Amino acid sequence: MARVEFDNITKVFEDTSGPIIAVEELSLDIPDGEFVVFVGPSGCGKSTTLRMLAGLETITDGEVRLNGEPVNDISPRDRDIAMVFQSYALYPHKTVRGNMGYGLDLSTDLNDEEVDRRVVEAAEMMGIEDLLDKKPGSLSGGQQQRVATGRAIVREPAVFLFDEPLSNLDAQLRKHMRTELSRIHSELGITTIYVTHDQEEAMTMADRIVILNDGQLQQVGSPKQVYYRPANTFVADFIGSPSMNFFDVDLEVASDGTGTLVGNGFTYSVSDSLVDLVGGDGEYILSIRPENLNVDPSAPSERSFEATVDVVEVIGSDNFIYLDVAGKECRLRAPSETEPEEGDVITVSFDEADLHLFDRNTEEALV
Ligand code: ATP
Repeated sequence: MARVEFDNITKVFEDTSGPIIAVEELSLDIPDGEFVVFVGPSGCGKSTTLRMLAGLETITDGEVRLNGEPVNDISPRDRDIAMVFQSYALYPHKTVRGNMGYGLDLSTDLNDEEVDRRVVEAAEMMGIEDLLDKKPGSLSGGQQQRVATGRAIVREPAVFLFDEPLSNLDAQLRKHMRTELSRIHSELGITTIYVTHDQEEAMTMADRIVILNDGQLQQVGSPKQVYYRPANTFVADFIGSPSMNFFDVDLEVASDGTGTLVGNGFTYSVSDSLVDLVGGDGEYILSIRPENLNVDPSAPSERSFEATVDVVEVIGSDNFIYLDVAGKECRLRAPSETEPEEGDVITVSFDEADLHLFDRNTEEALV
């Protein structure tokens, strides 16, 4: 069991083309037992952060602590951390039993019986008891993934690290393994840090999501917080599929105090409380999720706008409707019975409660 702290961590790689700042002044406190998921685009520093915690990468600046103890100078094998890699990293010539017990044989003074007891217990937990005498080469990708996770469980570590463990599996198996890994986490309660590209994985598995971009922390929060209250335009754009709509708008406040957001191709009248919240006239970025836009011919004109239907994509329960708003693409997610024709001009509205406003200079959230 462990609390994990990243205290102002920086990692700079020296490359032939010059220094690369992979992680910049990252601070994060992960309480014991939490399931944290790191997400962000390729190259944002997710794996490097994980590898610094595991001791596989040196730390340029800052301190990593486990249960309050600095571990910067502690060797990987003495950190009591187990890592599962995307490639599984199984030994091809050892059986599943041999692979799962290997780390324990080396790093502990447990006798063979105890090692085997733990291996069988972990194999049962992962549903791979009948594979124990097979070699990795004869296993499917999903089975190899289970062995790699089982090997981490056997070690009974203080912290589990997963680096894109499901990326090599097909979509259906990924979904299944997601549930399995969440179940393992609730059974064992071990602090877990999980890296993925896949935001659906992040949203469904995480207690808290950590969003990185360019080596910098963008937001830390529960799946609901990052979805409903994105801290900046990067998070707003990154989380959610299809992604949010963004419009440059000016807030114009009339002499009687009423406010109107004016964008290219639409105006939208807002409440006094919203005007108060953002502090009056100014340039903002308005964003709204596709599922918060409604096709509503009866919406009042000061709270709606007209758009031309470009494409309607049928995805089963819902339709994705791609719209043209004064030359800009806008995405709307509607129930399947809302199926306008391409070329139709429709009236689109949304609730003020669903809009987000960001400062146009800093791109930080205001509302
Ligand atoms: P991905 O999702 O593609 O795995 P990531 O978010 O895990 O990406 P990192 O692998 O942590 O990103 O890489 C962060 C940055 O550090 C990238 O710019 C990468 O090119 C650079 N980097 C990583 N490892 C090294 C290295 N050994 N030498 C030089 N640069 C490196």
